[in-house]
Amino acid sequence: MAAENDHLTWFIVQHIAENVQCQNCQSHFSPDAIDIISRREHAWFARAICDVCGTESLIMVVLEEPTDQYEDEPEVEVEVLFDDPPEPRRREPVSPGPITQQEIDELREFLATYHGNLTEFFDDADF
Ligand SMILES: [Zn+2]
Repeated sequence: MAAENDHLTWFIVQHIAENVQCQNCQSHFSPDAIDIISRREHAWFARAICDVCGTESLIMVVLEEPTDQYEDEPEVEVEVLFDDPPEPRRREPVSPGPITQQEIDELREFLATYHGNLTEFFDDADF
């Protein structure tokens, strides 16, 4: 139901604000600077822009024990997938700047076929 989704969205934004720091300057994100951009089953993707340094981050929040009841706060796992400091940074003429729709689409595609858990996901990742 919409109300539950709204509540969950609010919860996820709050969770990010309280638990995730800018990878560039370690500041916390303000809830106003966090946008939920995509949801795939139990994985939510948010874009957050640091108030202090302007770094844009793509954050994934996974509900560990999905339930239809959101009276209690669900268990979640949250990871910064990548971040994009505004400078200093080399300009790439073809795809400059912040997270692109294409990158989000590629991530979506990847996750659509991905069946491992988050630990494996990040073991495979290049950081
Ligand atoms: Zn920052």
